[in-house]
Amino acid sequence: MQDRKYAFSWDLIGNLDIGRPNLGPTTRLEVYRLMQYAFRDVIERHCGTVKTDTIFYESGYLAGQEFYRKFFTGIKEFGTFISAVQTTLREMGIGIVRVEKADLEKKSFVITVSEDLDCSGLPELDYEVCVYDEGFLAALLDSFTGERFVVKEIDCWCTGDRTCRFTAEIVGG
Ligand SMILES: [Zn+2]
Repeated sequence: MQDRKYAFSWDLIGNLDIGRPNLGPTTRLEVYRLMQYAFRDVIERHCGTVKTDTIFYESGYLAGQEFYRKFFTGIKEFGTFISAVQTTLREMGIGIVRVEKADLEKKSFVITVSEDLDCSGLPELDYEVCVYDEGFLAALLDSFTGERFVVKEIDCWCTGDRTCRFTAEIVGG
């Protein structure tokens, strides 16, 4: 097999202190959304809608795995893990996380993300758009528990809610 050209590495994020002494580590959110929705459009044209959603879920999952390794490795207790996730996602401007329901025995959760990076403020659509976030949250839960979760967005800014609401259930549970 040919060597990968684009395998993910945090090195690709680079050293922003050196790289952007004047502009720093942040940019306008419109720029992030412009890139994400341009990718979506082009990938959908090449691969179709279902495949595009799969690619976004898997990309979110990969990001979540890497994010977990970088920020949450070594946390043992669920409450500590959740508050670390809340703090980090708020500090990085990703979103405001709440756990609405947690059944630790059944491994069933309802998680909301407000002021979400991907969809807050978008016009109303008749479908949820935060597929990347589904994968991202699934990876965080999988990495923490060592089990396999499926995460589904059930409410979204785009479907008229003012927060994104996700169910997380253990696979086969
Ligand atoms: Zn959403």
